Amino acid sequence: MIEASCHCGAVRLAVETAPAEVNDCTCSICRRLGTLWAYYEAPQVRFAEGNGPTDTYVWNKRVLAFHRCRGCGCVTHWRATAPVWAEGRMGVNARLFEPEVLAGARRLVNGAAG
Ligand SMILES: [Zn+2]
Repeated sequence: MIEASCHCGAVRLAVETAPAEVNDCTCSICRRLGTLWAYYEAPQVRFAEGNGPTDTYVWNKRVLAFHRCRGCGCVTHWRATAPVWAEGRMGVNARLFEPEVLAGARRLVNGAAG
């Protein structure tokens, strides 16, 4: 089990496996957020019980909600706002993992090998 948390620890999540790839998305929102995305099927991501609240940001076609910790402001994940979109996937901000978790991960830029 690999755990991730925001800076203040209010939002914690866990996944079974380290990501094989992480994506440096340079779209207009992600480049501003500085996120690095690891994609998982939504049921593979377990959120800790008693997590603190997140605020969300949706934009453009409003198909994704970006969640950030209300305490420290770290962006933790995105979720599709409609199940049909993203086919049950979600994005976890891989910058919340300890750096050694990403040691073996392939780095992609906009989903392509760089
Ligand atoms: Zn926090």
